[in-house]
Amino acid sequence: MILISACLLGGNCKYNGGNNLQEKLQALIKDKDYRLICPEVEGGLPVPRPPAEIIGGDGFDVLEGKASVQNNRGDNVTSHYLKGAKRLLEEIDPEQIQLAIMKSKSPSCGLKKIHAGKFNGNLREGPGVCTALFIKNGIKVVNEKDMDDIKKLI
Ligand code: SF4
Repeated sequence: MILISACLLGGNCKYNGGNNLQEKLQALIKDKDYRLICPEVEGGLPVPRPPAEIIGGDGFDVLEGKASVQNNRGDNVTSHYLKGAKRLLEEIDPEQIQLAIMKSKSPSCGLKKIHAGKFNGNLREGPGVCTALFIKNGIKVVNEKDMDDIKKLI
């Protein structure tokens, strides 16, 4: 099975109530065995919701309690991010996951870069919280921009 960030296939679960539909990805994956996931909704956050960023690190740091996730109102939403990622992991068998295709730059789903915690558009290296948990559990993760890799791996 392939896991895929729900907003990439048109799910309106993005913080502002919209989506990040990638039509080429949608066409590529349409006949595959896939499951849509949204770690933030899984963690109990509403749609829409204030945008959030990881403060003081990346997703690995959040898992280790060394960084937090806060929204742009200053609310600490770390527990929702951890809950969503852990619930998704509980619902799957990592050995049965061929690939997870995760939305770039998200504090949950980002892979190579995420927003840097200043709400000014700056990015930093590192994954989001759910991606970090997936990587720690041996799941192969790519983001939606890695179309060449996705074609090879699915
Ligand atoms: S948490 Fe992931 S799946 Fe959900 S809206 Fe954000 S990027 Fe998309």
